[in-house]
Amino acid sequence: MKSKHWRLAELIKTSVELFKKHQIENARLNAELLLAHTLQMDRVRLYLNYDRPLNEVELTTYRNLVRRRLTDEPMQYILGKTEFMSLPFKVTPAVLIPRPDTETLVEWVIETCRTGGKKWILDIGTGSGNIAVSLAHYLPFIHVVAIDVSPAALRIAAANCRENNCTARVHFFRSNFTHENFVNVFQAKFDYIVSNPPYIPEHEFEFLSGGILKHEPHLALRDGEQNGYYYQKIAGAAARLLKEDGAVFVEIGHKQADPVKEIFASHGFRFIDLRRDLAGIERVLQVGRNDRV
Ligand code: GLN
Repeated sequence: MKSKHWRLAELIKTSVELFKKHQIENARLNAELLLAHTLQMDRVRLYLNYDRPLNEVELTTYRNLVRRRLTDEPMQYILGKTEFMSLPFKVTPAVLIPRPDTETLVEWVIETCRTGGKKWILDIGTGSGNIAVSLAHYLPFIHVVAIDVSPAALRIAAANCRENNCTARVHFFRSNFTHENFVNVFQAKFDYIVSNPPYIPEHEFEFLSGGILKHEPHLALRDGEQNGYYYQKIAGAAARLLKEDGAVFVEIGHKQADPVKEIFASHGFRFIDLRRDLAGIERVLQVGRNDRV
């Protein structure tokens, strides 16, 4: 294959066939996104450049991206970015790719928090910082403390915070919330505690799709040996760190609403409400100490 023979249109056509052969969904979109990324142009601009030949360097770059996609590497890691709550987020394999499901949690906190003055929110297991940063962006009067155990994740989260101009109100630090003394580092209590903890149970883990299993951080996905391990830890921490009239918002997985409600109940919290995601699946629980938060 000589590079001078490859023009955009043919290259797209060939890669679409290749992706289809390997059962990659949305073959055309995949090919166009990778080519647009290679040429650093908008995807729509590809259509205006259909006859443009690729040079040697561009062709090598593009082929490498296609190869990565053929190993099931998620598009977001290859492009190094994604969108969450209509904001740009940088992602690497050090962080979970933010999911649209998690927007259900963020939207609910935004609705609940819209009124009132300055509030403090704790984000447990911030990963890419998607929850912390989008809350700070849409709620200009709040402050967020966001923790994660992974230094690599915190570097990405901090970059996302800068990119979205929220550095004055989001404070990241490294901490392991499963440790005994986790709660002792905080001087004050929080109005809200939010988290999308690892919640895939052991017996479901191996059935995750290849792209997730091979490329996303297992630490961010997998529940502990005991089912609901991380919810136990969050509930224990919330019992000490949440203000009397505060609320906890946690994302939950398939069929977890009842067991997670029980975990929080055993730490003195009562169930307030449940929200489903856009697919109609039970996705977020809100709990607090009082009848109405
Ligand atoms: N808070 C991040 C998210 O919602 C990371 C979650 C995680 O790593 N479990 O995507």
